[in-house]
Amino acid sequence: MKQSLKMKQLDEIIKTQLFINGNWVDGEKGTTFDVVNPATGELIRKVAEASPAQVKEAIDAAHSAFPAWSKKTAGARSVLLRNWFNLIIERKEALATLMTMECGKPYKESLGEVVYGAGFIEWFAEEGKRAYGDVIPSFAEGKRVMVIRQPVGVAAAITPWNFPLAMVTRKLAPALAAGCTSVLKPPSPAPLTSLAIAALASQAGIPAGVLNVVTGTDSATIGKEFCTNDKIRKLSFTGSTEVGRTLLEACAADIKKVSMELGGNAPLIVFEDADLDAAVEGAIASKYRNSGQTCVCVNRILAHDKIYDEFLRKLVNAVQKLKTGNGLDEDVSIGPLINKKGLEKVQDLVQDALVRGGSLLTGGKTLGGLFYQPTVIGDANPSMRLAQEEIFGPVAPVFRFSSESDALRMANDTIFGLASYFYSRDVSRCWRVAEGLEYGMVGINTGLISSETAPFGGVKQSGLGREGSKYGLDEYMELKYLCYGEIN
Ligand code: NAP
Repeated sequence: MKQSLKMKQLDEIIKTQLFINGNWVDGEKGTTFDVVNPATGELIRKVAEASPAQVKEAIDAAHSAFPAWSKKTAGARSVLLRNWFNLIIERKEALATLMTMECGKPYKESLGEVVYGAGFIEWFAEEGKRAYGDVIPSFAEGKRVMVIRQPVGVAAAITPWNFPLAMVTRKLAPALAAGCTSVLKPPSPAPLTSLAIAALASQAGIPAGVLNVVTGTDSATIGKEFCTNDKIRKLSFTGSTEVGRTLLEACAADIKKVSMELGGNAPLIVFEDADLDAAVEGAIASKYRNSGQTCVCVNRILAHDKIYDEFLRKLVNAVQKLKTGNGLDEDVSIGPLINKKGLEKVQDLVQDALVRGGSLLTGGKTLGGLFYQPTVIGDANPSMRLAQEEIFGPVAPVFRFSSESDALRMANDTIFGLASYFYSRDVSRCWRVAEGLEYGMVGINTGLISSETAPFGGVKQSGLGREGSKYGLDEYMELKYLCYGEIN
């Protein structure tokens, strides 16, 4: 696409106000917060800060829009969702540029996220039409038994900065397809992509009040309102386990339906019978994507004794080829970390690992600003903090194991259970290990697993519920049992 057209589209899609009941409005007191490019430190835009009254207003708007939206046929909603999908795809380059500017992700990855994220809208535009009920053989003469599926009501969504588009569509597409209306709180470091796609939803013909967006830095107050306002019947959250736990507790008061997509501590196991080149490729794709800042990023690599040295040599070689820089520059595969706190956490974890016996095989330094060198640490052991904590940075610790049972025990030794990966060419082992991993998702001989067609989600403290796929719609629907009597 021509640069001038991309810049024109970019100007057109940038929104900085709240989106309530189909209107773009400033924060009540005109207050704003800064959205800054993590690669350059430059201010991108000032964005409206929602007041508590405006958050309530957005919820009221979604509540008022619910009866009409839920009564539409699934087919009518599907047409509007499809329009929304088309508008996003037509502007994919501009949206990807905006995403890279606000969250630092390399442009190619941002482009991939726009297409992946839009895919949820296309998918659920179709799935909404297949929200079938059931007719159940009756338990009594003169009675008929049926089950219908209905939208839960107003669905609130809270999303993180590391996938500013896909985490929004993964929630709002099934919600809207099911007949729910919604109110979204995007992340304050990166709210612009979410606001841009809300504008496109409106342009696509999705009626006022069906999708509302409130931005702000006082996320605790906004979150509390979402959890305690009884007009909201569903909360879907993606973010850290710590915040998820707080929201879950708050939602207990009026027993809201919840989905929680939380943190991870993904292992990648390289068995002695693995294709080592493929394993290195998978490790690079999964560990260093978004500079290591995704919930499904590999957090621990476990390599078998027999191939440990050879695997490490190949991995270090591949990591040293990764180029760090501003995600808008050509060939950059590692962008900045999102903020100073993220950078300091990575520095601390590396420091701790080295003190506890780790060997620095490559990287290990900051590169100015928020950039951190892609890093590999050998001789990793369970006493290191990074064995248990989400690193959220471009650092790969490599642990040693000597048997399959050892590998499984080490892989499962975590409170988390989101994504896991392993490489082996033994079919029986593939089944054994896949079944033995206590995770919601398993990549077997691949480091890339996300798709709108497959159920995404975790077990243990990685969350509740599944997003995407035919199962994703269930999170926004209730089953209703109808029992007809007096049928003669
Ligand atoms: P976070 O700090 O938990 O924030 C996530 C969202 O929650 C943001 O919109 C944030 O708003 C908001 N928030 C923060 N504190 C809140 C509170 N007390 N009440 C209500 N909302 C609150 O997480 P993050 O740093 O943005 O994202 C990284 C985390 O998300 C990692 O743990 C990662 O593994 C996880 N994640 C999980 C998945 C998954 O599908 N399982 C996908 C992506 C990311 P502000 O930004 O305005 O503070």
